Amino acid sequence: VAGSRPTSFKFLREHNHLRVVDVLHRRGEASRAEIARQTGLSRTTVSTIVTELLETGLVIERAATGASAKEGQVGRPPVLLALDPTSAYAVGVDFDHHRILVAVADLSLQVLAEREAGWDVDHDATGAIARAAELVDEVLVEAGVDRDRVLGTGVALAAPVDHEAGAIHSSGVLPSWVGRDVMAELQAALGTEVRIDNDANLGALAEVTRGAATKARFVAYVSISSGIGAGLAIDGRPYRGFKGIAGEFGHILMDPNGTLCRCGNRGCLETLAAGPALSALYGTSRGVEVTIPELVALAQEGDAGSSRVIADAGLAVGQALACLVTIMGPETVVVGGELSEAGEILLEPMRRAVLRYAPPASTRELTIVPGALGGRASLIGAIALVLTQSTEVVASRIAEAMAS
Ligand SMILES: [Zn+2]
Repeated sequence: VAGSRPTSFKFLREHNHLRVVDVLHRRGEASRAEIARQTGLSRTTVSTIVTELLETGLVIERAATGASAKEGQVGRPPVLLALDPTSAYAVGVDFDHHRILVAVADLSLQVLAEREAGWDVDHDATGAIARAAELVDEVLVEAGVDRDRVLGTGVALAAPVDHEAGAIHSSGVLPSWVGRDVMAELQAALGTEVRIDNDANLGALAEVTRGAATKARFVAYVSISSGIGAGLAIDGRPYRGFKGIAGEFGHILMDPNGTLCRCGNRGCLETLAAGPALSALYGTSRGVEVTIPELVALAQEGDAGSSRVIADAGLAVGQALACLVTIMGPETVVVGGELSEAGEILLEPMRRAVLRYAPPASTRELTIVPGALGGRASLIGAIALVLTQSTEVVASRIAEAMAS
């Protein structure tokens, strides 16, 4: 297939071509008229550029479907343009505290193959990286993707990450990962370029790009799994704070005399509402250890104890969220992570707490919604991290991959 395509993509470096690719890259698909509106280029210029891009195979045409076909259309729907999703691929790796998720997706963020493996990620970085490399090999084989066509691997870590330097801040949260050149180790093990970010930031990126908050500009994403984190998008851009230290929402103080947290403080939100706390609470009454998915399943079957545990977690998170909402002023709060699969059992008490503890002006138009991507948000966000790099980077990497 590669042989039938022209090998020179020099034009991709031309500004107007890049702007057209950028619109398609950001929006997924667009009509010629939409591209002209978005870029400010004339219809004729757009037409000429699109014809060139179609000839290379980088851009394809497809008939409008679903929502885009309905938008006030009478008669024939417009032909939409998109980047050929199979021209390049991206890999995502999510190192959660106790499991590793890996997936490969095409340019349209369509996941082609996916793996999950249990692992003590916090205390065994070396083993976790090696296991992730095996899982990446497996998904590439299953999807039939050549490693040369992989633009890069996005990696989610459950710790504050200096996004620019690709390093983890020294903290008690991921003991075996601190002080290592994680970026270099991952690049060597995975055989691709690597970009690293905090898991909640990536969950937010996924929900803003392809999930529950695609229309909102001021978004707080809160993830509740074995840890609790927040990712913020302010005026459409991720907000990471100084060197990536923002969003450590799980370590907001709830009770100065509370249980010792893994971060070294006492009474953090995580000690009340994260997976291990909920499991311990439920275990006390039933004498059984449950995972979060098991706890959620029990509650949905009508089990009173598990429902109460989840509802109380919702109240605690809502109380902390009231502070976040008061300061940040988001229009949408997206609740993700494994516990969000409990739906209204979690969200109803959370909304009640936010309404009660935040000032009315902050909550009048606020919506608190479940994430669309559940426990997979950070994984999808890791892939999006690679695919949402600047168009210049993506376009030239695609060109290289297609020429190879
Ligand atoms: Zn803590």
